[in-house]
Amino acid sequence: MNAPLEHPVQLDPRFARAAAASALRAQLVAQCRGDVLFDTASRGRYSTDASVYQIFPIGVVVPRDADDVRTALAVAREQRVAVLPRGAGSSQCGQTVGEALVIDHSKFLNRVVAFDAEAMTATVQPGVVLDQLNAFLRPHGLWLPVDVSTSAQATIGGMAGNNSCGSRSIAYGNMVHNVLGIDAILADGSEIAFGPIGKMARTGRAGALVDGLAGIGARERDEIARVVPKVLRRVGGYNLDVFEPQSVRPYTADGSTNLAQLLVGSEGTLAYFAQITVQLARLPAHRTLGVVNFGSFRTAMESAQHIVELGPTAVELVDRTMLDLARANPAFRAVIERALIGEPDAILLVEFAGADAAEQLAQLGRLEELVGDLGLTGAVVRVTSPQAQKELWEVRKAGLNIMMSMKGDGKPVSFIEDCAVPLEHLAEYTERLTQVFRKHGTQGTWYAHASVGTLHVRPILDMRRGGAQKMRAIAEEASAMVREYKGAYSGEHGDGLCRGEWVAWQFGPRLNAAFAEVKALFDPDNRMNPGKIVAPPKMDDASLFRVAPGFRRIALQPSLDWSAWNVDRDPMTGVETAPGTGGDATGGLAKAVEMCNNNGHCRKFDAGTMCPSYRVTRDEQHSTRGRANTLRLVLSGQLDGADLAGEAVQAALDLCVSCKGCKRECPTGIDMAKLKIEALAARAARHGVSLGDRLTASLPRYAPWLSRMRWLPALRDRLPGAAWLAERFFGLSAKRALPRWQGNFLRAAPVAPAAPPAAGKEVLLFVDTFSNYFAHENARAARRVLEAAGYTVRTNARAGDRPLCCGRTFLAAGLVDDAKSEARRTLDALLPYLRRGVAIVGLEPSCVLGMRDEFLDYGFGADAQLLAEQTLLFEEFLVREKAAGRLALALRRLPETEALLHGHCHQKAFAAVKPVVEVLGWVPGLTTRLVESSCCGMAGAFGHEARHHAVSMAMGELSLLPAVRAASAATLVIADGFSCRHQIHDGTGREAQHAARILERALA
Ligand SMILES: Cc1cc2nc3c(=O)[nH]c(=O)nc-3n(C[C@H](O)[C@H](O)[C@H](O)COP(=O)(O)OP(=O)(O)OC[C@H]3O[C@@H](n4cnc5c(N)ncnc54)[C@H](O)[C@@H]3O)c2cc1C
Ligand code: SF4
Ligand code: SF4
Repeated sequence: MNAPLEHPVQLDPRFARAAAASALRAQLVAQCRGDVLFDTASRGRYSTDASVYQIFPIGVVVPRDADDVRTALAVAREQRVAVLPRGAGSSQCGQTVGEALVIDHSKFLNRVVAFDAEAMTATVQPGVVLDQLNAFLRPHGLWLPVDVSTSAQATIGGMAGNNSCGSRSIAYGNMVHNVLGIDAILADGSEIAFGPIGKMARTGRAGALVDGLAGIGARERDEIARVVPKVLRRVGGYNLDVFEPQSVRPYTADGSTNLAQLLVGSEGTLAYFAQITVQLARLPAHRTLGVVNFGSFRTAMESAQHIVELGPTAVELVDRTMLDLARANPAFRAVIERALIGEPDAILLVEFAGADAAEQLAQLGRLEELVGDLGLTGAVVRVTSPQAQKELWEVRKAGLNIMMSMKGDGKPVSFIEDCAVPLEHLAEYTERLTQVFRKHGTQGTWYAHASVGTLHVRPILDMRRGGAQKMRAIAEEASAMVREYKGAYSGEHGDGLCRGEWVAWQFGPRLNAAFAEVKALFDPDNRMNPGKIVAPPKMDDASLFRVAPGFRRIALQPSLDWSAWNVDRDPMTGVETAPGTGGDATGGLAKAVEMCNNNGHCRKFDAGTMCPSYRVTRDEQHSTRGRANTLRLVLSGQLDGADLAGEAVQAALDLCVSCKGCKRECPTGIDMAKLKIEALAARAARHGVSLGDRLTASLPRYAPWLSRMRWLPALRDRLPGAAWLAERFFGLSAKRALPRWQGNFLRAAPVAPAAPPAAGKEVLLFVDTFSNYFAHENARAARRVLEAAGYTVRTNARAGDRPLCCGRTFLAAGLVDDAKSEARRTLDALLPYLRRGVAIVGLEPSCVLGMRDEFLDYGFGADAQLLAEQTLLFEEFLVREKAAGRLALALRRLPETEALLHGHCHQKAFAAVKPVVEVLGWVPGLTTRLVESSCCGMAGAFGHEARHHAVSMAMGELSLLPAVRAASAATLVIADGFSCRHQIHDGTGREAQHAARILERALA
């Protein structure tokens, strides 16, 4: 027998952790009704927020209700692990990143629990999103006025956790000024309703806590008065000044102490907020905006202190760099240019709001006078229409994101982005800090809250190369200035990992020790989000970075061309190196994925297209961000050796409908539809393609002969059991009818006369596979309209061969080589037309816009560029021709007077919906209403697949199908997409039509 070991073997802590995690998981699965996510990919998706940090959590629980939260806290207590509450995870300082059990309340805990219109209060669960709450309150003329830029995704729990502040804080204060009560669950399981101290229980755990806090508050009164910055925007540390208020705005009307406000800004370190009661404000009946144009940035900064004297609700800065970036962005150009006079160096957006419109106009007059007195007569642009104001605010809100769209490894990094200084020092502070940036070989763009001295600025740093050192050096110089000006180092975004170490610096050793006492009173075992506010790590501990030392990208050869992302960028000049020179071993694919900065905008759910799969599932995995993070972790070898063809990527991308919503709406331009092609291609190369997918993909190739035997596919819907068999063998949902074959339009279509057309009057009508075999009426209608307008119409028919095709069906199956060969064949055939300036005009948005988009990624160079420039959707072509004076269409009134239009996702992604509205507007007496819809859910073959049928219908039900059902029988339903029309039919029984058919019917 062996002798006993002298020293017991030490288990590798990773194994110990894994064992604990597995016990934790098992208990949570057994006891919670919500989702329990412990796989590496899920943990990876929760390892980051909008900061530069990354720490894998132990696991994630997505509670279905408050009982699940109680259970999660109890299980964590039993297993002795830390807990980290999380909302949208849009924090900029690493607050939501930690080795803990993450409790994500954003999916299920999103109910408004109580609402009192008279008292103007609401009690909400923590997962309610600000825009969701304000949409609920709008009919009552109320709102929660802490209007953060992330209002579309930020949860009230997270806003309370961070003490968030909006653009209008000068008028309404920060979250701390608007929270009345918090029902909290402590790490030990006690439940305490925090509110006015006088009304709180004074016995048991609550009593001990209240007495303890009151004792600290009384003891530290003088120190609080001495060290807490006297500015509105101070969100660092704990709000011990509820006992001795230092904010320029009172916390309570009568100066009494409300302990819920001490919890605000505690970043999940003290307790879990189960319900939050907020004070609401009346929505101002009128708003007006004056845009002050400044020739110099310094003058803008010097003027802010005078402008606030006029009592505006907001004064927001947009500097020259951001103005230039906004002008370069097609989505923002027109809006920003309307607000500018010449080439200003900076603008201030000055808003006045209230009940009296005349008074606000008078205020604008006073602004003009004041600006005139400052030597800038005529520098104010009045923006009085609500729509124009909304558009301008959207540009301002998108400011940071516009900036984040810069390519290369150097990125604007948030760590001193919200220092708050008194207004009289703003000009000097910004000038000096700009010099500090220069000294460190970088620069930053200034924008945001000039009204309260909190200007956002992010120096551009490459966290792989010297970023950490520069970060610390700049932080030290910035903090010295903040102290000199008696400002606050953290004026909006909180402490987290990046500013935690500055808490002691800001508040001194005595208050820092008091903060530790507060923490111990609530959470003696340090279980709630440890390492934030109290005992934080160093901000520049590179092992905590998303690009930690040793970060690499795995080498691979992508199927598409990503070289435009494979660049570097000079932080000072902004000059980019040539495509393909950025040193990315994945040819730019990884850099394209790394563009995602985790801001979480893809979690919005009420406007635009992005992201339909998140909207129906509310799962992080199925958001654009979740997908981008999965790909980033895979491409950097951080997911247990998983690769692009692996299960983690497949699971994350499975519900992506390739709508391209993110390509347009993601602020950094993440193009998940294109990324999905890479993943599908990798998977197809590894595992081959299923029979069903191959059948769908090859449709353009077998369609010519199958269209002659239309009875054959029709059997699938006629023979009993055939649909079931098709579902079994091809995965095609038996719940859907297949499209009905109509023969081959192009084979039967008349050939255009050989005689040369009138100058500029030749067009090639590209009849896609779907219009050609399933929707002749659209191709016919388009042809008739074009001919009625005097055009000679050629087509993509090929004598003795099958018609030309864009190859999209192949892409959807990952068969990139087949797609490329289809595309090359089409391009070669179209080149003679393109070279003589003929427009290629098509009907099906995904085919036509694919020729403008994916064709550019195949490496076809200038040929593809030429095609992209000359390929147009039918309505785009008509609008272009009309604007050029080449189109005269005589149209008559129709019996219908109303049309309901659903834009195909790709039309939305390419701003091609407006032309449809415009051409429908040419029909006398017809009014068109646009459905505010995301993807219809059909998305080509996606909705036909049995495993996606339910999700597909749920996407349709988000807004499109209810809107169609609500439309009167006399309303024309219009949808240019073949799939969209199919979905509308399946979901409502209504027949939607292509816009070409409406024009055809209206031809005089
Ligand atoms: C592009 C961009 C713009 C931004 N603009 C603004 C702005 O204008 N103003 C502003 O103030 N901030 C802004 N932020 C920061 C951030 O969006 C806000 O602080 C937001 O309110 C956080 O909400 P969230 O749901 O994402 O919270 P999360 O980031 O998920 O959580 C925030 C903190 O609250 C804690 N927490 C979450 N839920 C609970 C709970 N139930 N109980 C206890 N603690 C909890 C978390 O642990 C964490 O510490 C911006 C961020 C980005 C990326
Ligand atoms: S995918 Fe885009 S919108 Fe979503 S978090 Fe990333 S950058 Fe933001
Ligand atoms: S392409 Fe559409 S479904 Fe896919 S991630 Fe982007 S927005 Fe979401």
